[in-house]
Amino acid sequence: MTHPRPGPAPVRQASLRGHNLAVVLRDVADRTALDRPGGADPSRAEIAERTGLSRATVSTMVDELIGARLLAETGPASRGAVGRPSVGLRLDPGGAAGLGLEVNVDYVAACVVDLAGAVRYHRIRHVDLRTRTPRRALAEVETLAGRAVRSAARQDLRLAGAALAVPGLVQDQLVRLAPNLGWVDVAVPPEWHRLPVTVDNESNLAALGELAANPALPRSFVYVSGEVGIGAGIVVDGELVRGSRGFSGELGHLTIHPDGPVCRCGARGCLEQYAGQDAIRAAAGRPVPPDGIPTSVAEFVALADAGNLPMRNALQHAGEALGVAIAGLVNLIDVATVVLGGSFAPLEPWLRDPIAGELARRVVAARWAPVDVVPSVLGEDAAVRGAAGSVIRAVLDDPATWINGAGR
Ligand SMILES: [Zn+2]
Repeated sequence: MTHPRPGPAPVRQASLRGHNLAVVLRDVADRTALDRPGGADPSRAEIAERTGLSRATVSTMVDELIGARLLAETGPASRGAVGRPSVGLRLDPGGAAGLGLEVNVDYVAACVVDLAGAVRYHRIRHVDLRTRTPRRALAEVETLAGRAVRSAARQDLRLAGAALAVPGLVQDQLVRLAPNLGWVDVAVPPEWHRLPVTVDNESNLAALGELAANPALPRSFVYVSGEVGIGAGIVVDGELVRGSRGFSGELGHLTIHPDGPVCRCGARGCLEQYAGQDAIRAAAGRPVPPDGIPTSVAEFVALADAGNLPMRNALQHAGEALGVAIAGLVNLIDVATVVLGGSFAPLEPWLRDPIAGELARRVVAARWAPVDVVPSVLGEDAAVRGAAGSVIRAVLDDPATWINGAGR
């Protein structure tokens, strides 16, 4: 997020307060997030014990966080050290919220997620953006964002910002290249509906969304996103690996056959040409009609379920190509889990075996370090959910800025 940091004038006190606010808020968040069932709402005394802050400091910070509607008391919830009931604390679901946005080849999406992680608004609008200029495509997103902003206002949520997921290479506020959208150097406005907007690669945001939403996932994994294009979000020890210039994870442009069909990126034989949605449609004998509606992923699933041989063969071949590319990635970075996301999530029952077969054959350490292939828990919503989550995370990481600025 690009919220300004607290200014340098009473630096020590301001930064100490900011640090302590973040420590207390993070402690509650780690214990009470929706995706950590069974976690009890911690009391002030428990927070003091775990964080090493004095009880007086914790109480001051908690009062300030409650005043800013970042924390809420949940009534007597646990027993304190001397046996009397103490008040539990949770993230306030009526406080700050994040707006996630996504632009993809054939849809735009928006969702609002509250501080506690609950989805409060979610819409997808199917629209073929290949035939639109970047300006008109972004106007579609802005319109949908406006609906989400109005819904958040009706629910008395205060949006801290918006994050936009795009299927391409992102640098600062610029989409350098989104081959399947036909975008080159497209600037995303810094603000929509008076909210600050950041932009990031959809696979990166989806990987972070998956990390937050799936407590069973190991801290190191590769998230593979399958839309018309294919991307990967690489997470090692809970941190996104962006690469030195921010362009890592372009799995869709790994070469499967050097002399294969020309890709939208200009190279030949990229993975997308074998396992992207359009490639699966073509291989199944259902190429995208020039002016008609393409076969949907739900129809891929229905056809494969019904035993349709061309679709089953198309998915088998897509899975093999994916397995070849992912094996290369695993040989390089040694992750134990591959998460199939986007449209690969509903197709996982047909893709898993061919992918696993190639991994077993091609990952040199496979005998000692087997690789799991699992479907995403967020499925096709991972990128837009991850985008909203990135806004929430910025508030949790730096509540002082939220309290000093937008939160009031
Ligand atoms: Zn390519």
